[in-house]
Amino acid sequence: MEIKVDTHVHTVHSLHAYSTIHENTLEAQKKNLEGIVISDHFGPYFVGGNLFQSFAGIANIRNIPDEINDIKIINGVEIDIIDKMGNLAFFDHYFPFDSSESVLERLVKKCSMIIASYHQFGNLTLTSLENTNMLISVLSNPDVHVLGHCDRIPGKFEELAVIQTAKKLNKVIELNTHSFNKDKMAQERIKRIAILCAENDTKVTIGSDAHFATDIGNFSAIKNMLTSISFPEELLINTSVGKIYDFLNQH
Ligand SMILES: [Zn+2]
Ligand SMILES: [Zn+2]
Repeated sequence: MEIKVDTHVHTVHSLHAYSTIHENTLEAQKKNLEGIVISDHFGPYFVGGNLFQSFAGIANIRNIPDEINDIKIINGVEIDIIDKMGNLAFFDHYFPFDSSESVLERLVKKCSMIIASYHQFGNLTLTSLENTNMLISVLSNPDVHVLGHCDRIPGKFEELAVIQTAKKLNKVIELNTHSFNKDKMAQERIKRIAILCAENDTKVTIGSDAHFATDIGNFSAIKNMLTSISFPEELLINTSVGKIYDFLNQH
């Protein structure tokens, strides 16, 4: 199987990432990819100077060329899940110049691919039921396309229930190579999640979560795992740019 699009790539706009879009495209070209999804962080812990600056830097990606260095650019975002109800960042914030739409509502309209991810801050660990309900609520949000790195959820969740919900709603589970390449425990969890996705006909995507360009497209270890479990290639949405566009057009 060939993975042709890296669906989770950060840039300097994330503040704790170190490569520009231009540098990322050069690396993607070197790795023989067709495209990348720029998915900078959007959440309370990732706001730099001010909220509008963070918002605008993500929203404006749709105005750069859609192909740079032969790499298609898909304008995405990685939005924080901020509470156990599954609300996304800034769902209840408003810019002073517009009270008709929340900051979140404005942003999702400007982005083609919405990844929702849970990042742990502090020591909060939810129960399995709370985690499960949170993730099902996130997947039920019509704006969300992809559930990011659910292997990093602290504590347990009902993996089957979450994966079946993703199937029912035509959402995508991300298999994150940053987790997979670094952490043995995460490897086991990701493999288990991949097996459940295969058994339940649930779509997946592979994303590097690169915070530096050289991490883009390092998919060989995760591809070997998928091959070892005979993962059905048709469930992978990022084997071509065309397949990603087809998926996004379904929403
Ligand atoms: Zn990050
Ligand atoms: Zn993340």
